[in-house]
Amino acid sequence: MDQGKVGTMRLTVVGSAGGYPTANTPSSGYLVEADGHTIWVDCGPGTYISLPVDPWEVDAFVISHRHVDHCADLLAVFHAFGYSPCPRESIPVYAAPGVNEAMVGFVEPDDDHPFWSVFDFIEVGDGDTATVGPITLSFVPADHSVPDIATRFTVGDKSLVYTGDTGPGEWDEIATDADLFLCEASYQGEPGTHEYPFHLTAREAGEIAQRRGVGHLVLTHLSNRLDPSVSLQEAAEFFEGEISLAGQNDRYDV
Ligand SMILES: [Zn+2]
Repeated sequence: MDQGKVGTMRLTVVGSAGGYPTANTPSSGYLVEADGHTIWVDCGPGTYISLPVDPWEVDAFVISHRHVDHCADLLAVFHAFGYSPCPRESIPVYAAPGVNEAMVGFVEPDDDHPFWSVFDFIEVGDGDTATVGPITLSFVPADHSVPDIATRFTVGDKSLVYTGDTGPGEWDEIATDADLFLCEASYQGEPGTHEYPFHLTAREAGEIAQRRGVGHLVLTHLSNRLDPSVSLQEAAEFFEGEISLAGQNDRYDV
């Protein structure tokens, strides 16, 4: 797969459906690539069979949180890698607290189980950083009902930020001046009116993008029940820059 120009990052949307996959769109999953290095960010249901690259090319994973729509296909990845004639070993998984425990709960590995050799789980939170090839990752806790991370990916002077699932709490400084801001926008309408407060409205996504001076806002994780054109309109009332809707196989060079 063409991974874009040297020195740039490429974001590919593998899935963007909010909460659960549809017939045409997997749940949350993205690839971040630069200079031949590939990070798979969130492994929602449907992303494994929709991945546009060979999973054996993935160098590291980022899992924003333990909810099923963001991590279920990491189990498929484990089965593929762990029971292969050429099993993979020690792949870094940068994950919010609780993801490793959720996986262990499904797999129930005993001491010499391949689960322990396939993945190298690294719990990350406030201020933690990591490096994958030329990509620097930094993490902050997002505002969700379980531990959740927002991640900034940087190569040189270019950066993209992915929110994970989050409400409007105190996390968004990490988005400052991001070239591309991949922001969840689960809801529409007035902020503060939704029973479950741990997601953003499209308006809030637009407000954050404007306040933080991002270059390009990409809305994702929209509820499957919503008209996406309304989300675009609502975000555009508050953000003056370019706005897109994340769709399967969309690519953005940063
Ligand atoms: Zn979600």
